[in-house]
Amino acid sequence: MFLVGLSGGIASGKSTVVSILRELGCAVIDADVIARQVVQRGTPAYSQILFYFGEEILLKNGELDREKLGAIIFSNPEKRALLNSITHPPIRRVMLRQTLYYFFLGYKYVILDIPMLFESRTLTRYMKHTVLVYCDPQTQVERLIRRSGLSREEVQKRLVAQLPIDSKLPLADHVIDNSGDRESTRRHVLQLHHRLESSLGYLPTRIAAVTVAAGMLALVWSLLRRVWQ
Ligand code: ADP
Repeated sequence: MFLVGLSGGIASGKSTVVSILRELGCAVIDADVIARQVVQRGTPAYSQILFYFGEEILLKNGELDREKLGAIIFSNPEKRALLNSITHPPIRRVMLRQTLYYFFLGYKYVILDIPMLFESRTLTRYMKHTVLVYCDPQTQVERLIRRSGLSREEVQKRLVAQLPIDSKLPLADHVIDNSGDRESTRRHVLQLHHRLESSLGYLPTRIAAVTVAAGMLALVWSLLRRVWQ
């Protein structure tokens, strides 16, 4: 099995592409969903965040106010580093557990859907392939306005806070251009899926796993024989 990191920019079409991949039966791990799960009430990360950031970052129902937390860390790199040091280890553990689950189910590759993939050089090192869901900046603005109902100025402000999508182009191994209609995006996704499925990149880990399993079986067998003799 091998890992495929997928990312994009806001409203570039990541969710659209992920839903096509899921329809095709691909294994997709959503880092955003996991990031929400690990800070739910009662989790160790929730308690730590409460300890360091205080009760003012809670909503009335006791859940974390993600918007408030987002605003705090946006303007304070130290607090951002602190929050990351609390949330990243459990996120990584859950991602690893889910990856192993798909590995044992026999998937050839697993897609890790990670919003800040190209901003973090550490993560891309673990990926055999990286995929950027691209959309030309003008279409991106129009789609974001349509989806969010925000004004053009507000949308521009949000986009300025992100790495421009064009600057991610040279960092990706594969680009799915979602600037056109949905049908053309679907065709690009199918082509990519076909390429990844027919790649032999999954063989090294599979051979290693079979070798380890065979070794363990041989060990158990020799122990049993000794007990019986
Ligand atoms: P992201 O997950 O990257 O934020 P989405 O997949 O949610 O982006 O797409 C952003 C918006 O653009 C959504 O409202 C979606 O329905 C629309 N959209 C996505 N792809 C296309 C496309 N090829 N043609 C027209 N609209 C699209």
